[in-house]
Amino acid sequence: MFVLLLWTLAVLAGLLWRRWPTLLLSASAVIFWWLGSPSWLRHPVGWVQLIVLGATPAWLFVLRARVDKRLKRLLNAEAMHLSRLKSHRHELLELRTATAQRESQIAQITDLYHVTKQTSKALHVDELFRRSLEILPRLLTARGLRLIDVEGDPENPQAFRASRHREKLVMDAPGPLVPFERNILQEIQRSAQPGCAIPDPQHERCPAELSSVAWAPLWGEHRPTGVLMADELPSDQTPTLAIVANQLSLQLARVHFYQAVESMAVTDTLTGLFVRRYFTELAQEELQRSSRHRLSCACLLVDLDHFKQQNDTYGHLTGDVVLREVAELLHRNLREVDLIARFGGEEFIVFLVETNADHAMTIAQRLRGLVELHPIRAYDETLRQTVSMGVAMFPDDGQALQQLIDRADQALYAAKRAGRNRVVRWSPTTSDQ
Ligand code: GH3
Ligand code: MG
Ligand code: MG
Repeated sequence: MFVLLLWTLAVLAGLLWRRWPTLLLSASAVIFWWLGSPSWLRHPVGWVQLIVLGATPAWLFVLRARVDKRLKRLLNAEAMHLSRLKSHRHELLELRTATAQRESQIAQITDLYHVTKQTSKALHVDELFRRSLEILPRLLTARGLRLIDVEGDPENPQAFRASRHREKLVMDAPGPLVPFERNILQEIQRSAQPGCAIPDPQHERCPAELSSVAWAPLWGEHRPTGVLMADELPSDQTPTLAIVANQLSLQLARVHFYQAVESMAVTDTLTGLFVRRYFTELAQEELQRSSRHRLSCACLLVDLDHFKQQNDTYGHLTGDVVLREVAELLHRNLREVDLIARFGGEEFIVFLVETNADHAMTIAQRLRGLVELHPIRAYDETLRQTVSMGVAMFPDDGQALQQLIDRADQALYAAKRAGRNRVVRWSPTTSDQ
């Protein structure tokens, strides 16, 4: 029984991987077993028992040691694997951050490209600003934007403003500079540097209702041609403001170049008629001639009726075709000596030389009737258009060209008020009608 206890303890020590207790307990079990029954060793079974008794705990010890060694190796391999995984994870996170940064840079470059693409179609500064507002809210989260155009009229710079309504920047009416805008412009003209100001009564470059105003100059050849201002712009977006201002500088220069070319042009690109400025020069000469020779002549203002509705229904391109057709119809049905020009958007001006009032009214009615009856083929549509006209006579209704135009305009509005598609001659009571 005692031997069995010793052996069991040796087995347990072996399993628990205690080297010396295992050896001592196994040896004690063998010795006590041999002392207890030495005669057993005369039989082979006895030797087998002795070997089993002594070797089993040691064998268990070795087995446990081997298992533990293998376990340790596995754990080491696992730890290495884990640390490799950890470093891969770290690299992956870095890669992800870099990708996010690249993506945001690409998005910014794409947006800047769109700013250029959108604004490159603009022919006037207000259109340039309006088009840029379609993209800029993605790049600049400012509360408002202002584009100051100095180049158009350096004596009287214009401010184009937009304020935020939800996600959009909505354009307000343009106008002359308010004091703080003028102060920023002066600062730019002095330093030519981007900047930012907070409300400060001393310098007055930021109104009290705003927490800050940032600005960046628009550059022409060696001098600022304008300023881009942003109300309450987050500071990390100031570099973007400068980049956008750079893009807009190029477009502003192009717009002014176009305007300069336009101002030199004699004919209107859409209708082929004279432009207003050139018409005024020719009409002045005609008036002087009429005055010298005591001839009467007529000034007619022609305006398309409900043209906005045509545009809204059929689109601007169709509207352009209508405008061109009406212009051509009027031009074709006038004498060579008469003058016709595009006066404004959908308004034409006609100057009938050597024409008395009755004759002028007959011509005007004939032109009106021709337009009314003329079917206009525009893309897939066949449209009808009417016009209203105002007539003012030289010298009875006015002596100077501007006075004639003003009175023809009053008569035109009387025609509109009276229901459109009609001709009205100016009279002293016209504006009361
Ligand atoms: P009314 O009978 O009172 O004159 O009404 P209207 O709609 O003709 O006048 P309104 O002044 O409200 O609108 C003029 C329209 O003419 C608006 C503008 O879009 C359009 N227009 C001006 N110039 C052009 C142009 O070059 N092409 C086209 N397609 N439309 C133009
Ligand atoms: Mg009009
Ligand atoms: Mg009209």
